[in-house]
Amino acid sequence: MTDQPLLPQSLPRPHKKQGLPVELPALPMTVIGWQGIRCVLPPEWNLTSFSMERENGYIRADAPGDTALTVQIRWQDASDTERKIGTLYDVFAPKVRKLFNRPAPEQKPPDLRRLLDKVLKDAAKSAKKAGAGFESSTRPEKLEGDDLERTAIPFSWLGGGRGQGKIWHCTKCNRVVVAQVIGIARDGGQVQSVAAGLFATLRDHSADTLDLWALYDLQVKVPVTFRLHQQQVMSGHLRLVFLRGGEMIVIDRWGLASMTLKKFKLEEWLAANVTVKLKSMEQAKVILQSGHEAKVFSGRLSLTDRLKVFRSARGLARPLAVRFEGGVWLCENENRIYTVQALTSRKTTDLWKLVADTVMCCQ
Ligand SMILES: [Zn+2]
Ligand SMILES: [Zn+2]
Repeated sequence: MTDQPLLPQSLPRPHKKQGLPVELPALPMTVIGWQGIRCVLPPEWNLTSFSMERENGYIRADAPGDTALTVQIRWQDASDTERKIGTLYDVFAPKVRKLFNRPAPEQKPPDLRRLLDKVLKDAAKSAKKAGAGFESSTRPEKLEGDDLERTAIPFSWLGGGRGQGKIWHCTKCNRVVVAQVIGIARDGGQVQSVAAGLFATLRDHSADTLDLWALYDLQVKVPVTFRLHQQQVMSGHLRLVFLRGGEMIVIDRWGLASMTLKKFKLEEWLAANVTVKLKSMEQAKVILQSGHEAKVFSGRLSLTDRLKVFRSARGLARPLAVRFEGGVWLCENENRIYTVQALTSRKTTDLWKLVADTVMCCQ
């Protein structure tokens, strides 16, 4: 099994399709989901860099082959964009308000024009470095979204490369998002068509209580209350670890399943890759939404295992995980093995099935 890191730049580019139209009917579109942000891009695009933070972060996705086309999405909590740092008033006002039971003052909407100016200044700076001229244009502010929750300003620039993008504030999740498609100057048509697809599909918050996490053909949904804690993105192995207090969800996907299964049974593979002992746990077979049959182990965590989980969650405290539910299944069509583990408190029920059912495969 090959396990080279895929990030940041060393992505596999197995199928060079240069010169062929981007919209090949046989290839599925690329779905990207990260920290509540999600979008659909043309086939074979890949997430090439991302940040771990939820409140203030970015993702970048690149086109396949040798083209310079790239999509960059940055987001920030709107209260961060307007925060004045360090005045005593800022420190004490919330406490005083709490003391007198007064509501926080209504937040001013973020100054999108000012934030956009900064984006364009940065683009101008790199154009200048490259010795190119720079011109940009912005369109009037408009309301968008299913419930007109977004105030958006579309923009474009040309200089060195070219970019087409949009900045907006969403009143539902209070995020300020800047998204743009960037290419070389002569990529005009392609930049435009990728931007059209991007902005038709880009969402900055989940419509329900589950976030879509999608990268490298892995698609899974996790409750929005969980935060990404660790990731591992290798060519043969993807792992996402989420925490909510001391509760934990671990999702793994391995490639080259047929080779692995020459040496291990599925349940042995699970046992080798979980932090807890499966021996005394209850076993069951569960049919998932995808149609795959999972072997599932569940039971109370031993004291030793609880300590291990507590430590790997960096003692993030409550609620403590006391139960384990972990399952493994094979997707023969994709030649992949999936495992999902849920380490939960007494109160949380059915989390494993909820998450495992959302894993998409054999599409
Ligand atoms: Zn939103
Ligand atoms: Zn499958």
